[in-house]
Amino acid sequence: MSSKPANESAIFNTFARAPVSFERGEGVRLFTEQGDEYIDFAAGIAVNALGHAHPHLVKALNDQASKLWHVSNLYEIPGQEMLAKRLCNATFAEKVFFTNSGAEALECSLKTARRFHFNNGNPERVEILTFEGAFHGRTLATIAAGGQEKYLEGFGEKTPGFIQLPFLDEDALDAAINENTAAILIEPVQGEGGIRPVPASFLRRIRELCDENGLLLIYDEIQTGVGRTGKLFAYQWSGAAPDIMAIAKGIGGGFPLGACLATIEAAEGMTVGTHGTTFGGNPLAVAVGNAVLDVVLEEGFMDRVQQSALYLRQQLAELSDAFPDLIEEIRGEGLLLGIKCKIPNVKVVTAFREAGLLSVPAGENVVRLLPPLIVSVDDIREAVEKMQAAMTKLKNTEKQD
Ligand SMILES: *Cc1c(COP(=O)(O)O)cnc(C)c1O
Repeated sequence: MSSKPANESAIFNTFARAPVSFERGEGVRLFTEQGDEYIDFAAGIAVNALGHAHPHLVKALNDQASKLWHVSNLYEIPGQEMLAKRLCNATFAEKVFFTNSGAEALECSLKTARRFHFNNGNPERVEILTFEGAFHGRTLATIAAGGQEKYLEGFGEKTPGFIQLPFLDEDALDAAINENTAAILIEPVQGEGGIRPVPASFLRRIRELCDENGLLLIYDEIQTGVGRTGKLFAYQWSGAAPDIMAIAKGIGGGFPLGACLATIEAAEGMTVGTHGTTFGGNPLAVAVGNAVLDVVLEEGFMDRVQQSALYLRQQLAELSDAFPDLIEEIRGEGLLLGIKCKIPNVKVVTAFREAGLLSVPAGENVVRLLPPLIVSVDDIREAVEKMQAAMTKLKNTEKQD
């Protein structure tokens, strides 16, 4: 091999990183070492649900850190049991498996669904139906589930057993179900795909189809969960509960934590030895997970999220009216909002950042706004002023082009 190039980053080149780094955060704000301040409407891509350095989370992590970090799932972990019970009490679920990431939560969900059918004497039922525009993670199985060519290319044969259907196409869904179908997998709002909400009526129709055909319904609520849409989980707006659900991102508030939630029946095949994890649900992670739930399950918390979301939505509608040449539409649910742009979305993300506001690009030329759930009306007002300033600049440069 050649000698090592001197200026080459020692990190894989997989990320197109913005040229900025942060030293500390507080609430919805991030600060660079030079003292520059940003309003964080990226929130680590819907991870920092309670913003940065939330005192309750800091205390939970510090208290746990001075007692016990890790012991392995060879032993009972009381914080895990408690977090699982609380998640079950607040949802459809009765059983929980903890992971470190979203993709792992999805892997567990997929394995649970196949294993359910295997356990019921139907080992041929392995096919998982998914939808165009979906994003389910970057492992070999979850890129197959997501079905996006750009993520599959060059990684060998696509993991079999995933059938992708056109988004919201009921006829295609009806036609795709057969004796080999195991489950239907869907995000209640597509996140990476461009903030595309699935109508409640479609989720209810999927629920019916699953019941009629003995299929399991899997929700990917990795991005939509933990209050992001103004309810603890997005499916709770629709009344169509799943059998299995993958969560991650917000549940750890910045500590790596995910989970697969399931009904007792759906989890029946996952017997001793069928699945495992070294780090998943370790004492540090579940201490923070419990602390996140302390806050988001507090009386009135979701009402405040819904109010902030409504205010942001109204402000964005005004922004859209003011810049019809740059903005096509505003879409999304709760604090999972998207600006569909008429100019390249990365230009808008860059202009926002230069104005001191962080956002995230998504599919379909959308700019994602995912503020921490604790965002205040004043924060929103300030963020929208930054968006106006950025849009005005963009409008002027577009004219010159
Ligand atoms: C982020 C995300 C994932 C993947 O989570 P990782 O923690 O990056 O593995 C899967 N599905 C959805 C909907 C996501 O937003």
